[in-house]
Amino acid sequence: MTMRKKRSASHLRLLFVLAVVIPCLVLGVIAIRSINREKAFIELRLQRTLDAELVHMVSLVNADLDRIREELASSLTGDESAAPRSALSAWKARSPLVGVPFLLSSDLQIVWPSLSGGLSEEERAFLNGNGEFVTGRAAIPVYQNIALVYKDEITRSREVLDRKDQFAKAGSEAAEATPGLGLKKETPSGVQEEKPALNEPQSRVEEVEAQQKAISDFEMSPDLRKVVYDQAREKGQQAAPRTVSPSAVLSPEKQAPPQESIFISEPRRFTEITQGRENGLIPRFVRDKLTLLFWKRNPHGGFTGCVLDGDALRGRLVGLLPEVFTPVRILTILDENGRPLITPDDKESRDWRRPIAAREISERLPRWEVAAYLSSPGAVASRANLTTLILWILVLFLFVAMASGGTYILNTLRSEMVLARQKTTFVANVSHELKTPLTSIRMFAEMLKERRASDPAKQEKYLDLMVSETDRLTRLINNVLDFARMERGERKYEKKRLDVALLCEGLVDGQRVRLEHNGFELTFQNDLGEAFIEGDEEALKQALLNLLSNAEKYCGGVKRIDVDISGTPESILVNVKDRGIGVSLRESKKIFEEFYRADDSPTAKVRGSGLGLPIALRIVRDHGGDIHYFPRDGGGSVFQIRLPRQKRQGQT
Ligand code: ADP
Repeated sequence: MTMRKKRSASHLRLLFVLAVVIPCLVLGVIAIRSINREKAFIELRLQRTLDAELVHMVSLVNADLDRIREELASSLTGDESAAPRSALSAWKARSPLVGVPFLLSSDLQIVWPSLSGGLSEEERAFLNGNGEFVTGRAAIPVYQNIALVYKDEITRSREVLDRKDQFAKAGSEAAEATPGLGLKKETPSGVQEEKPALNEPQSRVEEVEAQQKAISDFEMSPDLRKVVYDQAREKGQQAAPRTVSPSAVLSPEKQAPPQESIFISEPRRFTEITQGRENGLIPRFVRDKLTLLFWKRNPHGGFTGCVLDGDALRGRLVGLLPEVFTPVRILTILDENGRPLITPDDKESRDWRRPIAAREISERLPRWEVAAYLSSPGAVASRANLTTLILWILVLFLFVAMASGGTYILNTLRSEMVLARQKTTFVANVSHELKTPLTSIRMFAEMLKERRASDPAKQEKYLDLMVSETDRLTRLINNVLDFARMERGERKYEKKRLDVALLCEGLVDGQRVRLEHNGFELTFQNDLGEAFIEGDEEALKQALLNLLSNAEKYCGGVKRIDVDISGTPESILVNVKDRGIGVSLRESKKIFEEFYRADDSPTAKVRGSGLGLPIALRIVRDHGGDIHYFPRDGGGSVFQIRLPRQKRQGQT
């Protein structure tokens, strides 16, 4: 029995661990990990949204640079060579973007600004800064998008990677041997098809598509970027660090390292730049300041051009920006020194070099960036913190709910299992308990019938024993019936004023013959005299009989029972004491539970229903009292009934 109990307890423990503890822990870990990533998700979402705006801005600026080039080109009449001074100043007057106009002869001699004409400050600066370059004597760094310069390599590397992926998926070893060049493409029919060489002419649309693909591949793959930058460095092409370093707002500890510019520069001469083209814009850094040179071939084989007016250019680009300031973000264009072309009326000083997202604009505006900032980073951070906090609380709540729900269900299951087991034992025990008094009664009845006891005193004694055994039987049946009635809440009491001392004495006397016949010594002591209460006589007798019966059953061989009555001004105390096996401290809390029987070998030897004490307790509680167990000094048990004393009539 105990073995089975232990086994099912350990099954339940295993079930608890498998069904509650492990799922709780796993879910907890998953939840905590995703909460920790929540901030990064919020940040990424913000960055993506802002980046989409920046991409749009970049395309606006680039389109406008094309427009500027076309406007300047179409605003030239072509006859500037004849009267340079008047034609160029008319051009400057027509177009606000023209800063310092210049004219070059077909052999790249500077025709204008002319030394003979008396030079303005700006013209002198132009000649100093650009004279050598426009006359073809010096090379300047020319910027190009690295992804376009290395477009073919990027395309090839991507194809290699794609093929490796395919091979890896197919579980093939062949991926290792894939060469970087001369790629063969698998057609659906399985026939090897020669891929057209990359330098074969492609249509314009295909070319643009390939360029865009190369740029996006380059942006998406850090590995690819590293390879391409290394290659560029080997060839002596320079990639300057970017003007800004976009940085995380919500988790500043995770700062990205400074990035390299997507534009690489290579020295080129004026003739190389203008070769095969009609007009163009050339960015130039003169003393770290960016200027844009516009040039156009003129009909005489020379070049007409100008240095763009910086303020006019800036003003025009600022005009392209969508709403600069919204409650969420600030958008602006940063110049080569990281200074914004336009700022909102922003009192707090901002580190313009640390936007949340930024993009380089164009090879025609190297080191210029479009950048986005959060209008109030603090508010976003605290919103993100709040979201995280709410998630934590939610997870904690779910965790507690799951753990306590699981514990509750398993506890209920355990007590249901215990109850089911107790009920089975109960049926066996009750059947046995019914059989014992029936056997005694039958034995005495047969002895009387066969007139084996001729002595009238003996006959009297047998009859008393039969009555006492019948009482025991009745009590047992009453216990079972009462328990059922109590369960249904149908037990009724017929209360009347009665003397508990008298009731106890009568009951002890009634049991005396049987107990003494079984070898018990039974004492009764009343220190109280009368002890009146309002109560149901039969019910109280039943409670007391249950205690007496237990004292007898659990005597453990020491056949002595002492009943005494004492009292306090408020209560009447009836003690039923024995020198039996006693109850352990742990069991003493449970023995008043229904069907509960102490789990030890001395108790197991005695048959019982586990209903005696709970019924007695219920009856006494229904009379406003209580029953307590105390270990008896010198061994054994004391079960104490405490009943509230009824005031004598006339007493208040
Ligand atoms: P039953 O005696 O039929 O098993 P009870 O409800 O009367 O049921 O008692 C519950 C348990 O309390 C018993 O199984 C026994 O372990 C313990 N018990 C009750 N009375 C005594 C006593 N006088 N001495 C030792 N143990 C007792």
